[in-house]
Amino acid sequence: MRRVQKVAIIGAGMGGLALANALKARNIDVKIHEQAEELTQVGAGIQLTPNAVKVLRGLGLDHRLKEFGFVPQAIMGLDGRSGKTVFRTPLAGACEELYDAPYVHIHRGDLQTILRDPLLDSMISLGKHCVDVRNESDCAVAAFSDGSSIEADLIVGADGIRSAARKSLFGADAPRFTNNICWRSVVPFENGPDYDLVGPYNSIWFGPNGHVVTYYVRGGKAVNIIACLESTDWQEESWHVRSTKEELANAYDGWHPKLQKIFARADEVYKWGLFDRDPMESWTRDRVTLLGDAAHPMLPYLSQGAAMAMEDALVLARMVGQQQDDLDAALRAYETIRIPRATRVQLSSREQGKKNHLTSPVARFVRDVEYRIRNLINPQASGLKAGWVYEYDAGSVGEPVPAL
Ligand SMILES: Cc1cc2nc3c(=O)[nH]c(=O)nc-3n(C[C@H](O)[C@H](O)[C@H](O)COP(=O)(O)OP(=O)(O)OC[C@H]3O[C@@H](n4cnc5c(N)ncnc54)[C@H](O)[C@@H]3O)c2cc1C
Repeated sequence: MRRVQKVAIIGAGMGGLALANALKARNIDVKIHEQAEELTQVGAGIQLTPNAVKVLRGLGLDHRLKEFGFVPQAIMGLDGRSGKTVFRTPLAGACEELYDAPYVHIHRGDLQTILRDPLLDSMISLGKHCVDVRNESDCAVAAFSDGSSIEADLIVGADGIRSAARKSLFGADAPRFTNNICWRSVVPFENGPDYDLVGPYNSIWFGPNGHVVTYYVRGGKAVNIIACLESTDWQEESWHVRSTKEELANAYDGWHPKLQKIFARADEVYKWGLFDRDPMESWTRDRVTLLGDAAHPMLPYLSQGAAMAMEDALVLARMVGQQQDDLDAALRAYETIRIPRATRVQLSSREQGKKNHLTSPVARFVRDVEYRIRNLINPQASGLKAGWVYEYDAGSVGEPVPAL
């Protein structure tokens, strides 16, 4: 049996940082190797659904959400043109009761701070662009573009959708452009929330061929916009590029005036091509495994990419911690617990995208009637119907159920 004493992580995204925290808590020697020269803040919001908040709780970090987060009252499904409510799923209070954790909006940079702060500088090696990962007889090896290499008992590729670790292990296949593009912007609201313009909700504005999501981050001092459209013409080599508020406003010409007012306040706007991949049957080759977007990149329509990366991280660290003398058993347990879950979320995110972007007026009418009826019967079973996503607890899944 092979013992795990030293773990190397490729990539300091949300998944890599969460894994380093979880391994450190188990006194396992861990180091992250990140290609960026510094960990800068990407201007974007993240919805931390209750399952993601439970990961932060498992890492002992959820108390910091009070400093940075915004707790929305409800998910509001709205008609993108008239602004009429299609459904309302209560969140504040309801999530704590139903899923044992709140639903929190946060700036991605603030989540990075929460996950980065507990780590020592010596645990993160910056400017290390990984070009190859391989297994040798008694260790795994990662090689970097500066000619250096490192060895570890276990290497984890947490290097995102264009993962070098995945390419080394499973071959080169490009992620699939999903014919979806989106604009992202964090709009400053320095004076705090303006509830006449942006309610204290997670608002999803539905329209033909696209939807827009708006919500507060930074305790109400900024509003995150994600505006998605179906489009076949993604020309860029990079998967995100600079855009303008004018381009954003033009793309949603005729949508609700409140949206246009929010767009007009945006300083920095980025445009993204949305890519994903099909689910994999295995993420592991011998002493190397994958997590997060490297293993299962997904469309953002259930807001689960970072959540899944963090869930992977906590489960992997738990399995390694519990079976430190048996790496193979730990990795088998990791895959058994995580692959079915990540696959279901990946495929459900695709389905939700189709529902959000219906073009035919009849199909949209039927969808909205269905939402309204469900909302009358049980608001929690309305909208995204994502209770099965939120109830998951990566800190306890896989533990034997105690006998009664
Ligand atoms: C529009 C949009 C909205 C989203 N909204 C949400 C949301 O509300 N909630 C949510 O949970 N998720 C959301 N996501 C998804 C989420 O952002 C990602 O799924 C998540 O960040 C993945 O985390 P990760 O750690 O796997 O990868 P990443 O965060 O991509 O991190 C990968 C890291 O690896 C580094 N790296 C890459 N290649 C190398 C290399 N060769 N060598 C060394 N380092 C390398 C990168 O620099 C980076 O730091 C959204 C995504 C999009 C596009």
